[in-house]
Amino acid sequence: MYKIWNFHTGASHPPLSGDLTCDAAVIGGGITGVLCARALARRGLSVALFEEHTVAHEGSKTARSTAKATIAHETAASALAENVSKEASRKYIAANLAGLRFLQELTGGEGTCDMYLYALHGERRLQREFRALSDGGVVCEYLPRAPFTLSDTQQITAAVRIPDQLAVDPVGLAHRLCAEGSFAVFEHSPVTAAGRHTLTCGGHTVTAAHVIAATNYPVFHEASLPMKLMRKTSYAAAVRCADGFRLPADIMAYGADGGFGYRFARDGEILIVSGETHRGAAAPNAGQRLLRAAAEAANGNIEIVRQWSNNDGYTHDGIPYIGQLRCGIHIACGFGAWGMTNAAGAAVILAEQICGKGVWYDDLFSPYRNFLRGGMTPFAEHAGVAAGGLLRTMAPPPDRYASEVAPGRAEIINYRGRRAGAYRDPDGQLHVVRLRCPHLGCCLEWNPEEKTWDCPCHGSRFDYTGKCISNPAETGIGL
Ligand SMILES: Cc1cc2nc3c(=O)[nH]c(=O)nc-3n(C[C@H](O)[C@H](O)[C@H](O)COP(=O)(O)OP(=O)(O)OC[C@H]3O[C@@H](n4cnc5c(N)ncnc54)[C@H](O)[C@@H]3O)c2cc1C
Repeated sequence: MYKIWNFHTGASHPPLSGDLTCDAAVIGGGITGVLCARALARRGLSVALFEEHTVAHEGSKTARSTAKATIAHETAASALAENVSKEASRKYIAANLAGLRFLQELTGGEGTCDMYLYALHGERRLQREFRALSDGGVVCEYLPRAPFTLSDTQQITAAVRIPDQLAVDPVGLAHRLCAEGSFAVFEHSPVTAAGRHTLTCGGHTVTAAHVIAATNYPVFHEASLPMKLMRKTSYAAAVRCADGFRLPADIMAYGADGGFGYRFARDGEILIVSGETHRGAAAPNAGQRLLRAAAEAANGNIEIVRQWSNNDGYTHDGIPYIGQLRCGIHIACGFGAWGMTNAAGAAVILAEQICGKGVWYDDLFSPYRNFLRGGMTPFAEHAGVAAGGLLRTMAPPPDRYASEVAPGRAEIINYRGRRAGAYRDPDGQLHVVRLRCPHLGCCLEWNPEEKTWDCPCHGSRFDYTGKCISNPAETGIGL
């Protein structure tokens, strides 16, 4: 599989081999965990990071990110100003600007570029976002004419230019920070239990004054989190074109009203197009729509380098959860597919909360805020999906059997009198799995783009053999 990001900069790190005491223990070696560890080490704390696989591994959200580190999160700032308050919008922007500055410091400004938030269908939403960003202190410029073209069919009506954003290599950055040695890194070290000051990892005990769970979906949590945090899936396609692209190679762009995201990688050689965010396992033909957009943005025939999907945590009010749970563990999650500046902002916030007095905007991110103040609709949708997912597990087994599953296809079948999921690989081997998610029991759905069984409730994912490849589930579904 073609690797978009730089996986070669990373040294390997040993697993934990004995008990350990440190000031701060960070669970999870994605961009969030690495940035939190770096921010705490910078404050003089002895920090140890524990990653169940390897840092920013191929299956992590970080390696599957398109990694536009920008303050322009579609229309997040104006949505907060309108649905919660102008103050909430300003605080959200302040945290993300702090995160962007932290990333700029760590990257030495490598990847600096202009970000364009563009509109395809009128200008109202774009204008509202421009006002909210300006009100939050973001330097940006309103452009009433299209600064570039995306395609013959998609005409940009206006755009907002935001200078000095970052096109990050998230894997290269995470590997480099871990190799620097300012904090200890333990790979192949899954944490199996965690509390306020201790965690268990590979049969060893780690004692720490502070524990941060940066596992994307907090796996050591209290009961209310599954109601407050959902996952949505988005898609990406990376393409090459010998004749170049319509967009300049030194910019990033995202639609304010449903348009796709665009950025370049590998010194402008590769264009990455992303979007099509949705709940549940699959958006039919999402991959094809992305490829069409990529082809339209190209000056000639495209070569598909890679296509993939990824999921991320979403909160009901659009604000991440960053702070300390009552159980004592600090969390940083719910980035809504904008985890570069949000994760870096979380690192700044948690380092300030742990080492100092906190920052003026951190109350916005409290895991105990009223998460319904942005409106009931997202929560009602989440509850509906969860209820549907639970109800579907009670359906009787269908009148379809293993022998009817064709090669390359997946079906829900009657397996020894029970409902089960079955995928027959191209070699004819059948893989039968349980359809109930081990996390909270929702009925899994087949994702044909990735050939995985996905949970529509909280985004756990399993490969077709039943192996768990994405939390919050911790065990597989193989029969
Ligand atoms: C298609 C797509 C495109 C995106 N593009 C952008 C973008 O352009 N800009 C942007 O800002 N954001 C983007 N995002 C969002 C961003 O990628 C994520 O928010 C971010 O990568 C989340 O990082 P993380 O560290 O929280 O999670 P992860 O990278 O998944 O890291 C969590 C780590 O914890 C480890 N772990 C889990 N449980 C344990 C355990 N028990 N013990 C030890 N380790 C454990 C996992 O193995 C994993 O490595 C995108 C998301 C999607 C879906």
